[in-house]
Order: sequence, then C-alpha cells, then structure tokens
Amino acid sequence: MKIRCGSCHIPLKDDDMLVLDEFNTLKHRGCYELDPKYIKDVDTFKNIKEKYDFLREAFTH
Ligand SMILES: [Zn+2]
Repeated sequence: MKIRCGSCHIPLKDDDMLVLDEFNTLKHRGCYELDPKYIKDVDTFKNIKEKYDFLREAFTH
C-alpha cells in the first residue's frame, strides 16, 4: 500500500519532508497550504512513521 501526499497525490518517500496536521493528514511540506496552527509535526516520512504508531500500523499492512 502506497501512502500519497494529501495534496499532490504523489507517493511519499522515506526522505520526503512532510507535515502531519491535526486531521492526521500527511502532506509534503511544500504542499501544505492550511493555517500553520493545524500543524502537529514536521519531519521526514521515515521519522514520522517511527514516531507515530498509528501511522506505522496503517502504512505497513
Ligand atoms: Zn505533495
């Protein structure tokens, strides 16, 4: 299962810099257009998967 950017729909790569927002949507940092107050985290896809268990489960099945 490929995870895609919530904005441009390009599959995410481990070293992409991403934004995780309050709605648990992942987008490239450059694709993020909402108010910065909704940002929960900014990190690489690899690190975000390691930090958030719910993502790892969803993404590795
Ligand atoms: Zn994108």
